[in-house]
Amino acid sequence: MAKENILIVEDEEDLAELVRYNLSREGYLAHVAPTGTSALTLTRTKKPDLILLDLMLPELDGLEVCKRLKADPDYQHIPVVMLTAKGEEADIVTGLEMGADDYITKPFSPRVMLARVRAVLRRRPRQVDDDQETLRIHNLIIHPGRHEVLVDGKPLTLTNTEFRVLHYLARRPGWVFTRYQIVDAVHGEHYAVTDRSVDVQIVGLRKKLGVAGDHIETVRGVGYRFRE
Ligand code: CA
Repeated sequence: MAKENILIVEDEEDLAELVRYNLSREGYLAHVAPTGTSALTLTRTKKPDLILLDLMLPELDGLEVCKRLKADPDYQHIPVVMLTAKGEEADIVTGLEMGADDYITKPFSPRVMLARVRAVLRRRPRQVDDDQETLRIHNLIIHPGRHEVLVDGKPLTLTNTEFRVLHYLARRPGWVFTRYQIVDAVHGEHYAVTDRSVDVQIVGLRKKLGVAGDHIETVRGVGYRFRE
């Protein structure tokens, strides 16, 4: 089977080469774009299956590239994984809300990068109709159809909102969601809710989950993630 095509958007030559080398060694077809403008051109010509996108780029920055890709019906389905530096939390939040799928903080090991690439490519086609699928994560079972959560076989009493927050996070383990994305998913758009009220839901959820509450991880300055 032909391996996927990956576009690396990175202006630091050494890093771009390291990523390209490791992706090629895994059998991926990897291309490098050193600027935001060339990223858009190569997306058109190479039709990548995934884009690794540095945020600090000459000409167009990474967020602008992400915004343009996600606004274009021809390219908005291509998963984008941001390559970010420490301290770029605000940009990470913006990128995730624009539709980027994930991010990796520099410096990263090739192993971590490859694992993330595989995860994003693997999950891509599944997202649509796994809404009703029962999730089993260690001692935690979530039955969306029955609106039921069990820890060590014992049912928990969750509020409707707590259930939906948990299910939303647990459907994509390892993915970071911003508070805004969580509110949006749980209440629909335009629901006036503060960051703080998401935090309150999470506190309540963790308490009720007990030991299984450790699955919900706070990602400082960004949001929350479900850890397997
Ligand atoms: Ca850069």
